[in-house]
Amino acid sequence: MNKQVSSKPLNAAKGVTHNVASLALFGGTPAVPPGRVTPWPAATKKHLTALAAVVESGRYHRVNHYIVANLEERLARWAGNWAVRAVGSGTAAVHIALDYYKHRGSRVLTSALNWPGAVGPISISGLEPTFVDVELNLAGIEPYTASEMLEPGVAAVLTTHLFGNNILAPNLRVAARAKDVPLIDDVCQSIAATTPIVDGAYIDSDVLALSGNGAKHLGAGELGFVLTKDMSLIEHVDQVSLASSSREGARIFSPNSQGYNYRPNVFSSAVADYRVEHLDRQLQGRRTNAATLWQGIRHLPGLLPLFDPSDKHNSVLSFPLRIVPEELGFPPGPAARDLILKLLQAEGVPVWLWLTKPVFEYLPSTRGKWSKGDFPNTMMLLDTMFYVSEIAPPNDVNVMKLYVNAFHKIWEALPNLTS
Ligand SMILES: *Cc1c(COP(=O)(O)O)cnc(C)c1O
Repeated sequence: MNKQVSSKPLNAAKGVTHNVASLALFGGTPAVPPGRVTPWPAATKKHLTALAAVVESGRYHRVNHYIVANLEERLARWAGNWAVRAVGSGTAAVHIALDYYKHRGSRVLTSALNWPGAVGPISISGLEPTFVDVELNLAGIEPYTASEMLEPGVAAVLTTHLFGNNILAPNLRVAARAKDVPLIDDVCQSIAATTPIVDGAYIDSDVLALSGNGAKHLGAGELGFVLTKDMSLIEHVDQVSLASSSREGARIFSPNSQGYNYRPNVFSSAVADYRVEHLDRQLQGRRTNAATLWQGIRHLPGLLPLFDPSDKHNSVLSFPLRIVPEELGFPPGPAARDLILKLLQAEGVPVWLWLTKPVFEYLPSTRGKWSKGDFPNTMMLLDTMFYVSEIAPPNDVNVMKLYVNAFHKIWEALPNLTS
């Protein structure tokens, strides 16, 4: 082991050429010391206080529990513009939105690079997905291709905003409006997309689906939200879900309920309510961390952002990047990404592979019906992207600098690894 380098592992100092032996994967000291990174949902005692309030309320469920009502009101105030209904999960929110528009057609346009939980509800609603490729910089639905596919029979456009990115796609929204096709936005990973993100205006959407699950911004366990200006869509929540008590508290059983049990979890709601109170600070922390990290690694060759570095409204759920294998002397395909991922993980950087297949290969209703070859951008991203997961507070810029050091250490050694 290189004694000099390992005794100063955090200092990727100028003039120090890191050789292969200094890499943690080959026995060197990790750039990020064990225990230095706080994993989301960053549990604190404050969450116990929130949970205790549910216990003290004496009621552990009910759609009209005052903790749920407070949360809906607080989130509606934070976002502005929308009425908010809490439901059981983000998936439930997507399902309810699709169910509301299912009579408009038989197909739903959505991207092939997608989350199974966003796309599964399409067939649950008796609709069929029509997959569209993504554009390479934001991993969002390719707006021009999608605009051209707005044929009769399209019941809705389901736009998934991944990693915290905002998929504004203004031309697609205008085209959909012209053809009276409803716009559904899955903002499960992009909570700030519920706020004015388009030059001070809100995105033009009929309904937003948000998740409060433990990995998302509200880090609350199991929880979701429907956000819309359409009050009959808000009422539709109870048509899909099991409504054994009305919002007003009376014991009623809706004669039209589809019987899905999409009640919000009250314990999760209590944690989410606490999180919304501190959401601006959380987002600020994520954005500052992302800016520091990107500033530190942006000049590295063969590395591209999978987000818009100039977007001040990015929700930064994670920090996605992609590798350009050819610029690093690798053949096209996943080999370069897979090696870099292993090297970074060994250095203690919390990096992960996202999905490895287009979304249609994860779902029984679409498996085998679509061909990877028709989605070149999706395939390229699946082969080259990865993401840094722990970018949220309480991790701060000092933690980000440790991540930066790890990238530098690896990039300095890469020429020796490829030769
Ligand atoms: C998490 C997520 C969902 C599903 O949310 P759950 O609350 O886990 O059901 C849907 N779409 C996207 C893009 C997500 O990230």
